Amino acid sequence: MTDIDRAVGAVLGSAAGDALGAPFEFGLPGVFRERFPDGVGELCGGGGWDPGEATDDTQMAVLLGESLLERGGLDLPDVFDRFRRWAAADPKDIGLQTEQVLLGGDPWDLAAARHFQVNTHAAGNGSLMRAATSAVYFAARGRTETMDAARRIAALTHGDGAAWEGTAVLHELVRVALLGEDPLAALPAALAEVDPAHRDRWATALAPDWHPDDATEFNGAVWPCLGSAVWALRTTRSFEEALAAAVDLGGDTDTVAAVTGTLAGAVYGSAAVPARWLPVLHVPLPGFGGRVLRADDLRDLARALATADQERRSPAWP
Ligand SMILES: [Mg+2]
Repeated sequence: MTDIDRAVGAVLGSAAGDALGAPFEFGLPGVFRERFPDGVGELCGGGGWDPGEATDDTQMAVLLGESLLERGGLDLPDVFDRFRRWAAADPKDIGLQTEQVLLGGDPWDLAAARHFQVNTHAAGNGSLMRAATSAVYFAARGRTETMDAARRIAALTHGDGAAWEGTAVLHELVRVALLGEDPLAALPAALAEVDPAHRDRWATALAPDWHPDDATEFNGAVWPCLGSAVWALRTTRSFEEALAAAVDLGGDTDTVAAVTGTLAGAVYGSAAVPARWLPVLHVPLPGFGGRVLRADDLRDLARALATADQERRSPAWP
C-alpha cells in the first residue's frame, strides 16, 4: 500500500463515516447495531439525509482542501471566506458554534476569539470533523508544521485552545499513519507536543484504557469525539468495524464516524472503504453553484493534496 492509497483512504474514509453516521445523529447508543445486526452497515440515509449523502463535516473538509490547492498553501482568510459563503447558503447541517462564528459578522482573525470571549464554551468537535484534507496536505511537511497548521485552521472557528490541540493531535496521527506506521504507538509523542495547559485532559481521553462511557461531556465536544475515534480504531480490526463501533456510540454520530474514518482510512487505505458504498457516496456543496462531488472526485482531491508538495518541487513544465 502506498502513502497515496492511505491519503485517499483518509479523505474517502472520512466522507464515508460522515454519510454512514448522518442518519443516526443524536440517536441513542446501540441503534446502529439494532438496524444492522449482522454488523454490515449500509449508507442507508434517513433523518433528512439521502443514502450516501455527506454532511457539513465533509463539505467543510472539501472546501478546506480546495483552498489549500488553489491558494498553494494555507491562506486563512480564503478558507474563512469559503466557509462563510457555504454557511450563508443554509447547509442542511452546520454546527451551532461554527455558524455563530462564521455568520456573526466579525473578520476572520477575530471571529472565533470573540465568540469564545462571550460564550466561554468553544470546544466543539467542528475542527476535528473537517481535518482529513488538511492532514493529508501537511503530512509531507513533518510533525511541527502539520500540528501548527492544524491549530491555525481550528482557530478559524474554535476559540478554545482545547480544540486546536485536539485537531493538532489528529493531524499528527494521520501523518504517522500515512507513513505506514501505527498512529496509536505515536500517541505519547503527539501528546508531548500538546500545549501543557491542555495536555492532561487530552492524555486522559486518549489513554489506552479510556472508554467512551468515561466521557464527561456529550461527544459533540472535542475530547470525547477524538477519544471515541481513537477507541474505535484501537478496539477493532478493520475499517468497517471501526466505523460501526463509532456510529453505534450514538450522539454526534456523523462527526465521530468522520473522525474515525479519517484515522481508519489512513491506516487501512482506500481499498478498505467498502466498494458497495462508493456509488451512492456524494458531497453536495451549498453556496458553490450546485456542485456535488462523488467518490472519484474525493479520490482526485486526496491525490492532489498528497502530491501537492512534489508538484511544486518538480513542475511538469518550466
Ligand atoms: Mg455533520
